[in-house]
Amino acid sequence: MFSAVERFKPGHTLAFKLTLFYALFFGLLALAGGLLQLQLVRTHVLSELDDDIARQKDVFVRVVIQGAESTALADELRGFETSCGKTDCFARLTDGKGVVRSSTDMSLWPDMPLPGPLLLSHPGTQSLFSTIDLPDDRRKARLLSVFIPSHGYFQLGVSLAESEALFANFRHYGLLMLATMLTFGLAIGWLLARKAMKGVAAVTRASRNVAAGRFSERVAVSGYGREIDELVRAFNLMVERVQTVMGEMRQVNDNIGHDLRSPLTRIRGMAESAAIDCESHAEGAAMAGDIVEECDHLMQMIDTMLDISEAETGLSRMHFETVDMNQLLDQAMDLFASVAEDKGIALAFDDSAGPANIEGDRRKLQRLLANLIDNAIKYTPAGGWVRVGLHHEPGRICIEVIDTGIGIEVASLPHIFERFYRCDQSRHQAGNGLGLSLAQAIARSHGGGIAVNSKPGGGSVFSLILPT
Ligand code: ADP
Repeated sequence: MFSAVERFKPGHTLAFKLTLFYALFFGLLALAGGLLQLQLVRTHVLSELDDDIARQKDVFVRVVIQGAESTALADELRGFETSCGKTDCFARLTDGKGVVRSSTDMSLWPDMPLPGPLLLSHPGTQSLFSTIDLPDDRRKARLLSVFIPSHGYFQLGVSLAESEALFANFRHYGLLMLATMLTFGLAIGWLLARKAMKGVAAVTRASRNVAAGRFSERVAVSGYGREIDELVRAFNLMVERVQTVMGEMRQVNDNIGHDLRSPLTRIRGMAESAAIDCESHAEGAAMAGDIVEECDHLMQMIDTMLDISEAETGLSRMHFETVDMNQLLDQAMDLFASVAEDKGIALAFDDSAGPANIEGDRRKLQRLLANLIDNAIKYTPAGGWVRVGLHHEPGRICIEVIDTGIGIEVASLPHIFERFYRCDQSRHQAGNGLGLSLAQAIARSHGGGIAVNSKPGGGSVFSLILPT
């Protein structure tokens, strides 16, 4: 049993875990997508900027090569400063020792690393792009340093403030998107989990009711999803089976109570009169003999009941071997020949079908055939006949036991294979109503079954089908 606390702890429920899973899934998806997009945008923006810087640098280099320190370079530097603003860019030409020969206004670009050492830290490179953190206001700048042989070093820097603002915007919207996706994931997860768990909850509720003894409980299959619908169907089937078995058990209990009571009462009566009325040893011995006979009868009944249960539950120890049913019938005929003759019944067997091999338990199959033939003889009045025949069908054999006996009422036909069931018109005959139950259980344990066709006063046909 669940304790109340355990049952309602939300962290333990599958619905909670599923919801969390969906939320995490969508969240991670959004995060990965956002990061990837940010990286792509960053790469694209920087490469565009680098192209612009390189183009601008080419202009300066051309001017420097044509005649450094000329007014042309000063004009170009001024024009450059005006067009992009001195807070956002700078350019300068230095000699090999780091002495600035010409530059834009560098007052807003203090501590810029000199191009010489920068290039020397990357041997073999004549031009180098780098990203510099500006110490004053935590901005970043993109810097191109280039060596111009016999003129010195040229450096061009552009502030990344605009690009950084763009990236910050992007991050901001990315976070918003992440929060939306997380909420969306939570909602989707909760809805899906609720839908899936609805069916499971219905099965759980029904299981509790069944456990409390309400075997009529069923769960409606109403589109919970294929797997859950399957579970519901399997559950309903199981409860159906349990209900049937419980009903049968109740019936059997009633029958046992009823059918064991009569012989026990008789035994008790006989023992009592032996104790009170017995006058001689011979009389006592006769009474004891009757008691033993009744006890044997009772024990046989109990054994048959156990055999039926074993065969029905599949717990019986079956010894499978190849059995020729034609031969088995032939042997059964020999066994019942004298019984039929004594009763004035013609017993015939048509063995023309030849060998009919099946895989089965010889001893159990013998019992099955004996029950059918015994019944046919028992319920056929003198002067009638009983015919047994066998024929082959694709993948199976069919054995028919046909009699001209008293037949069976239509209302009784569905019940004759039930334990202890006996038709009213046959109650004067010896029997306990277990023979056909055992026969059917054995047939089924071999993968076959018994069908009956009968009408009152018109004889009966019992057809036994067994797979080959
Ligand atoms: P029983 O010990 O009473 O014969 P069975 O289980 O063998 O028990 O049979 C159940 C009932 O089916 C019998 O009581 C009888 O009423 C009916 N029955 C079985 N076989 C035949 C038959 N060949 N002809 C008529 N009735 C039959």
